[in-house]
Amino acid sequence: MESQIKGFEVATCFGGSGCPNTANSGTQLAKEIEAVFDKEDILSFLKANVKEDLKFHHEFRVVLADCPNACSRPQIVDIGIIGSVLPVVGEEECTFCGYCVDACKENAVALDENRQIPVIDYDCCLMCAKCIYACPTGTIKEQKKGFRVLLGGRLGRHPRLAMEIPGLQSHDEVLQIVKNSVKFYKKHSINGKRFSHLLSSVDQVFSI
Ligand code: SF4
Ligand code: SF4
Ligand code: SF4
Repeated sequence: MESQIKGFEVATCFGGSGCPNTANSGTQLAKEIEAVFDKEDILSFLKANVKEDLKFHHEFRVVLADCPNACSRPQIVDIGIIGSVLPVVGEEECTFCGYCVDACKENAVALDENRQIPVIDYDCCLMCAKCIYACPTGTIKEQKKGFRVLLGGRLGRHPRLAMEIPGLQSHDEVLQIVKNSVKFYKKHSINGKRFSHLLSSVDQVFSI
């Protein structure tokens, strides 16, 4: 089995095959993340550091999902990345059709009858872009496209959901977070200890 171990895995959801739920595609980002791992030669690092035969659970796992439905389960791997779009209410006149309210599964959009505008509750918004797609007038539109990033998830004997870095990260910011995470992992991992067991706070990858 050891001959099949690559040292890392970068997986995506089916968004690249044309899933209509796609908020922001991570297809190109996934290729660039693969290149980061190739350059860092995680396999040689593992071979030098792990005292037993390498197994799949030693591999560093990155999973991308193109929308918050998260079919590829980014919450339970070392680095999870979720394609997202932050909506905003613009100046274009709202016709009060209610399509945005119906489109939002989080009940994060309400219509303010006094001001004749939609109102977005950002505490509930998952940045899925459905309200943007549903709005025929462009009143609700894209403010920023990017990625939510989650670190340190795992399954196994002591599972843990990954911790989310607050806010929306740009393509380049995600790549930097991945590079920092690999650097942190190589600095602290001994005998195959998993990234998630080393990480107690997402801030650690920013102070490396
Ligand atoms: S995570 Fe979203 S974009 Fe990806 S396959 Fe699932 S529903 Fe489609
Ligand atoms: S982006 Fe998605 S979760 Fe956020 S308000 Fe729009 S439909 Fe709701
Ligand atoms: S979908 Fe657009 S036009 Fe319709 S109520 Fe919502 S913001 Fe207004």
